[in-house]
Amino acid sequence: MTPQELKSLVRTIPDFPIEGIQFRDITTLIGNGEGFAATVEWLADRVSASGAQAIAGMEARGFIFGAAVSAKLALPFLPVRKSGKLPCDTIGVDYALEYGSDRLEMDPASVTEGQLVAMVDDLLATGGTACATAELLRKAGARVEHAFFVIDLPDLGGATRLKDCDVAVEALMEFE
Ligand code: 5GP
Repeated sequence: MTPQELKSLVRTIPDFPIEGIQFRDITTLIGNGEGFAATVEWLADRVSASGAQAIAGMEARGFIFGAAVSAKLALPFLPVRKSGKLPCDTIGVDYALEYGSDRLEMDPASVTEGQLVAMVDDLLATGGTACATAELLRKAGARVEHAFFVIDLPDLGGATRLKDCDVAVEALMEFE
């Protein structure tokens, strides 16, 4: 499948979760078996080329793509979770979202000192989530140099923000 065909599988929902937001919905992309497989393959090729030793995925849609890529490459998967979900001792960071604010947490024991960890998520908007995740992973001792997304919204400046956090970005498709 071409990137253009994959892009056509993403559904746009107007005014979700609040008025004025055009929500790019990946439900229809992962609901297409071939489309999901081609997306995971695109991500896996980039993660593999980055030399990453583990993959971190952000709750919740980052789990869908990140875990699939991890399994394909036989790399460890590190779930970066919303506040209060992990049963173990955690470390966390607070961050601002495109709409609202949140906190991300992880198990610090899931990373080894100096391990190269790539981030995978469905969509890059302002870059707040990915920057907070990089900060969290680094707090746990990881090296974070790459982030891979299915969708980038370049008008929201996420790639520039991530560059300022020393993270290089690649995305399969863009929406205005
Ligand atoms: P950021 O932190 O870069 O501003 O927002 C990205 C995060 O919010 C990602 O974890 C992503 O899942 C979620 N997000 C924000 N807007 C959208 C959207 O239009 N579609 C989807 N699928 N996720 C979004």
